[in-house]
Amino acid sequence: MSEVTGGTLYLVPTPIGNLSDMTARAAEILRDADIVACEDTRHTRILLTHLGIERPVVSYHEHNKKEAGPKLIDALREGKSVAQVSDAGMPVVSDPGADLVRLALAEDIPVVPLPGPNAALTALIASGLDARQFVFVGFLPRTTANRKELLDAVKRIPFTLIFYEAPHRLKETLKLLLAALGDRQAVTARELTKKFETFRRSRLSALLEGLSDEAPRGEYVVLVEGWQGEAEDAGPDGSWENEALALAQDLPIKEAARRISAKWNRSRREVYQFLLNNT
Ligand code: SAM
Repeated sequence: MSEVTGGTLYLVPTPIGNLSDMTARAAEILRDADIVACEDTRHTRILLTHLGIERPVVSYHEHNKKEAGPKLIDALREGKSVAQVSDAGMPVVSDPGADLVRLALAEDIPVVPLPGPNAALTALIASGLDARQFVFVGFLPRTTANRKELLDAVKRIPFTLIFYEAPHRLKETLKLLLAALGDRQAVTARELTKKFETFRRSRLSALLEGLSDEAPRGEYVVLVEGWQGEAEDAGPDGSWENEALALAQDLPIKEAARRISAKWNRSRREVYQFLLNNT
């Protein structure tokens, strides 16, 4: 007997790389739902074909959610069951779905979440960083002002920070994190559950250096250790490097190098070169 009930919205996680990570229950819900709402119909049809499932798929994504959402709610009100999936991992988590959930809740439509694959948690548990408390930050905002605001907001949180990033922006993001948070311990988790799954665990500056040899490819989660206390106020770990990075956020690097070299008795050239490499 199927557990699928008419008039219910199911949130169904799908694999983040390894198709065997599809849970039996998730497959069952997709098989028995009246409608599968998905981000990319071609992508989801491939998954459904792999699972031997034939269901009507309708597209629901960031760009059509205003029209597609109410239509799905109408179908739910008429007693149809809807399974919502994204391209990979948990719907709603840095993916479409949040608005649909809110619309459904506003109409007293039952919402049933299924557990399953998720890149952030998969990376966290093998990161070696503190997993007792963590903050999922997700993608950094695109504008400089919004990014700065967000990084300022999380800078003094003593919990592991988890970020998502596209490969072509990885380097830029590591630089931003280094400048905003200091040279903290961090981890990049690449291609989770896939053939070339790779973890790198090091300080942000070393992770950045490691990247120059390899053009980033694949999908990445970046995790950064939480704030470690008062020392970071002076310059995150009390080092000239971190103070220089902090200063270079507000001043031209030439000026930041001048001030740091005077204060810390380092050569101006050394500080300038460090800032050139790391900002
Ligand atoms: N909903 C998904 C989840 O639950 O994890 C996240 C979707 S979000 C649009 C895509 C981002 O998740 C990627 O840019 C990357 O940061 C991360 N991601 C997804 N799959 C991944 C994988 N196999 N390995 C590493 N990161 C992954």
